[in-house]
Amino acid sequence: MTNGSHRVVIDTGLSIQERSLLDALRARGVDPADVDLVVNTHLHVDHCGNNVVFPRAAIALSKDELQWTFAFYDAVFASRAPEEAAARFYPELPASGIAPRTIRKVTRIARLMWNRDRVGREERFRWLETSNLPAGLDVIPTPGHTPHHISIRVAASPPVIIAGDAILARSYGAKVRTMIPHSRSQFEATRGALLQSGLTIIPGHDAPFAAADAA
Ligand SMILES: [Zn+2]
Repeated sequence: MTNGSHRVVIDTGLSIQERSLLDALRARGVDPADVDLVVNTHLHVDHCGNNVVFPRAAIALSKDELQWTFAFYDAVFASRAPEEAAARFYPELPASGIAPRTIRKVTRIARLMWNRDRVGREERFRWLETSNLPAGLDVIPTPGHTPHHISIRVAASPPVIIAGDAILARSYGAKVRTMIPHSRSQFEATRGALLQSGLTIIPGHDAPFAAADAA
């Protein structure tokens, strides 16, 4: 998106999606070097894997979220029992009914996808806790999917909410390949609050929709 003076990309996908991301930007006449800011709603592998393809961009993200997510990946990737390591970060995992075998498989896939270097170099980071985004972009704390997840309200006319995984899809029951919520009750409260806005929502894993059309 752009406000005329800044070009901003919010979330950058899996590293293996680099080509389609760049193609989509080029189709809009945007060169990667034109982008001066990347914002991450959270740091799951499918949201920050191409931060590094923007050579001039600062990267705005939550320090608390980064510390939590990096600790989570370090713990599960180093563990011989990733289902136990994951449960220390996702306390609702043991009761979720997901088999340890499935957690081990997902861990192996995530390990292949995760590359810390693709998140970008620390000197480019701008902590959302202590710095503001360009005019027209407001940070909304949207915890639940992860502890320090954020969404962005864009002051377009009409305004739009870029929800990240605070809202996965138009339908609450849609099947989405992602982690269970860190806190299901918080996730549901956050989803409800965002839908209350009545605005257009851009969810993390579905097409944009009007909040009134949520199911
Ligand atoms: Zn996610």
